[in-house]
Amino acid sequence: MSKEAQPGSATYSGSPLPVEGLLGRIKPQIAQILSRSLEGRELTVEEGIQLFECRGRELQVLALVADEVRRQLVGDVITYVQVRNINFTNVCYTGCRFCEFGQRASHQDAYTLEIEEVVQRAREAWDFGATEICMQGGLNPQLSGYHYRDLLVAVKKELPDIHIHSFSPFEVQYCARRTGLSVEEVLIMFKEAGLGSIPGTAAEILDTEIRQRLTKNKLTAEDWATIIKTAHRVGLPSTSTIMYGHIDAPRHWSNHIALLREIQKETGGFTEFVPLGFIHDNTRLYASGEARPGSTGAEDITMHAVSRLMLAGYINNIQVSWVKMGPKFAQQCLMSGANDFGGTLMDETISRMAGASYGEYMPPDEFRRLIWDLDRVPAQRATNYKILRNFDRAEDQAYLAQKPATGTTTGWARGGGKEITAPATGAGRILPVIN
Ligand code: SF4
Repeated sequence: MSKEAQPGSATYSGSPLPVEGLLGRIKPQIAQILSRSLEGRELTVEEGIQLFECRGRELQVLALVADEVRRQLVGDVITYVQVRNINFTNVCYTGCRFCEFGQRASHQDAYTLEIEEVVQRAREAWDFGATEICMQGGLNPQLSGYHYRDLLVAVKKELPDIHIHSFSPFEVQYCARRTGLSVEEVLIMFKEAGLGSIPGTAAEILDTEIRQRLTKNKLTAEDWATIIKTAHRVGLPSTSTIMYGHIDAPRHWSNHIALLREIQKETGGFTEFVPLGFIHDNTRLYASGEARPGSTGAEDITMHAVSRLMLAGYINNIQVSWVKMGPKFAQQCLMSGANDFGGTLMDETISRMAGASYGEYMPPDEFRRLIWDLDRVPAQRATNYKILRNFDRAEDQAYLAQKPATGTTTGWARGGGKEITAPATGAGRILPVIN
């Protein structure tokens, strides 16, 4: 493993930027906050709100400071993970107003994958180089409460070494209700069946008033925090997320991030923070006129930059969502405090159903091409951020120069680059392969 690509080693490809010199040229109250951040002090909720409201020159300096703090904390490596998302059912009656994925069982697009089909998809992903699968789905009342456990057991029997990162806190709570077990008992059962970590999804905005307007039937912010802390306590790490750009405002974002920071102080169980911009196009929330049409570019930059500064020293991995923002704007956020490019995904359904148009699969070569383009250092990671593969700059750039850029695709080819049919993401639905 080359020294250059060690995350956390804080090795730089260049000398630190003299950002202090720029602080004298922006509003003094913003300069003071950024200065405190550069000194390693913890930012308050109020300071976070002020940073979220930065625009113009203040926004540019905020991004530079966040990038500098990123360099000091984790160096120049940008990681990515080879993962397949398996959305095993879209049947759901929760009725979240920001979601177009969940469907009633009678809907023509409703589907539920047989366990064998899930295992086959996991096997395909493993054979294609994936180290992780992420299983999430709707809350389908036709499935037994033990279906989650059965999925884990079946996948692990076929692929004992794959990492299973699955089931949101809402799915964990649903399983507890259906089985009569406690949340802790469910999580222990999942762990014993092979679960490695859980996604910190279903967080949306951890604010009671906002959650009531997004969805009346979902778990409360308190429940989310309790389930996440319980998962961490039983040895299941998790990611942490925020969904922003709808009916929310900077004070909700700052409070949300501060709450995650408090949980992390208590448990140390978060592996990363993933800002997820609201995809509005096909949602009832947007059609009702209540929500904004997703986040703006300035909000995307501030979200990644401010979360880097507020979480510094607690959650040091900030992930961009290329499927929400597109790979090009994801590059911008990787220059504004973020250090992880996320996953290959292979079959991303949830964002696509809400109207996202950035594809469902990004090949590893494309991650590396975009990372080298930023003059940063790519590395393939495991779910827990252990580095699995480094790349020699000259050798890899020469290799990539021989290949046409692929961008993201709506399907993925298997079999050593031979074009074959991509796996279906829904019942009877075959996506075209563009590769
Ligand atoms: S976000 Fe999840 S729980 Fe809510 S409707 Fe969609 S699938 Fe169901």
